[in-house]
Amino acid sequence: MALSIVDSCVNCWACYDVCPSNAIYQSSAHFKINPKKCTECEGDYAHPQCASICPIEETILDAAGEAINPLGSLTGIPPEKMKEAMDEIQAR
Ligand code: SF4
Ligand code: SF4
Repeated sequence: MALSIVDSCVNCWACYDVCPSNAIYQSSAHFKINPKKCTECEGDYAHPQCASICPIEETILDAAGEAINPLGSLTGIPPEKMKEAMDEIQAR
């Protein structure tokens, strides 16, 4: 079982140093997780360290493909409010 990093990664390096398994590496586009090395932090930490420190919502997915930090979880802004605001900005 392994986590994965998707395209919304902003290459901030925050997750790189906190991984106890050295599973995170920089690829040409963005950081990625080597599924052969990722242990989901089991045995080391109660929570996946990469997802705990990642500042971008929906960027780190669990083994089932679900975002560990879903939209609104870090900002506290409900997704529908965020959509309203983005729609308003784009309409300017
Ligand atoms: S879940 Fe843990 S072991 Fe897997 S990549 Fe993230 S920090 Fe590393
Ligand atoms: S912490 Fe998140 S945004 Fe930063 S490099 Fe890791 S996956 Fe990308």
